[in-house]
Amino acid sequence: MPAFKRSISKETRAWVLERNGYTCQMCGVAAGDADPLGSDRTVRLTMGHILDKSKGGDDSPQNLRAVCTNCNEGLQNTSLPKPDRIHLLAQVRRATIDDQRALLEWLLKKFNLTANADP
Ligand SMILES: [Zn+2]
Repeated sequence: MPAFKRSISKETRAWVLERNGYTCQMCGVAAGDADPLGSDRTVRLTMGHILDKSKGGDDSPQNLRAVCTNCNEGLQNTSLPKPDRIHLLAQVRRATIDDQRALLEWLLKKFNLTANADP
């Protein structure tokens, strides 16, 4: 494996990360999450190619997506299908209150909102 080549500009990286919501497009973890594989690192995102370079893909922003280092290294083989709304809501309703709060905080941050504090 050749060392990581800096052929992708900082601007392109930033644009792709922003477009993908700083979320791994394969397994759904977000930058800064605890590593789901249990190492003590937090999740880092890297650039992945949608169409592999060996199949003619290039480094254009349209062919790039945010992928976590675990997925990029093939450490986990979970290209999750997007959850549908009914199942997603069912999962959330069954989650613990703490997890629901964590989700709420993440959503508020994502949409630049603030929760109404207690009066
Ligand atoms: Zn991933």
